[in-house]
Amino acid sequence: MMTESIADCTRCPAHLTRKNIVIQRDGEKPVTLFVGEAPGAMEDKLGQPFVGPSGKLLDEEISRIGIPPEHYAITNAVKCRPVTKKGYNRAPTPEEIEHCRPFLQRQLDAMKPKVIVAVGRVAERALKNMGIGSIYVLHPAAVLRSPELKATMQQQMDKVKKAYHTAIAPAERKATIWWWW
Ligand code: SF4
Repeated sequence: MMTESIADCTRCPAHLTRKNIVIQRDGEKPVTLFVGEAPGAMEDKLGQPFVGPSGKLLDEEISRIGIPPEHYAITNAVKCRPVTKKGYNRAPTPEEIEHCRPFLQRQLDAMKPKVIVAVGRVAERALKNMGIGSIYVLHPAAVLRSPELKATMQQQMDKVKKAYHTAIAPAERKATIWWWW
């Protein structure tokens, strides 16, 4: 649905080098939305966000804190891979984030996640500029570069765990009452 409206987007220079527009991967009822900064080479190739080593670590952490696959979605602030002149990944510019903002807003409107997690400072700033509060967690790429940061990331993910369980608590209570009937 959203792919059709975004499919020909040329709003920012990132469209010149993309192989795929990388929108999201999501469960059936995404209570929690994780927002990263931009697709990397693997994501660009496969058309899915967070599918490389960073995505594996993020998925492991999400699983560790008990969020089932149907209850989360993952996306990025920009949907096309920003690259350097030499073809390496780079962080998206503020202009690229601004150009792509309507697509992220549309995802938020459609999904209405109860918990929003900024994966990295770039994503946190993008969300803040949209007036959206988030829980910050270290980008898994930073943890892969500096494994000593893993404990910090896990502490941050434990805050996500608390917010997620608080968000789903009413539904859980209802399910329990129904069971007793
Ligand atoms: S990054 Fe976003 S705004 Fe830029 S070309 Fe891709 S879809 Fe369009």
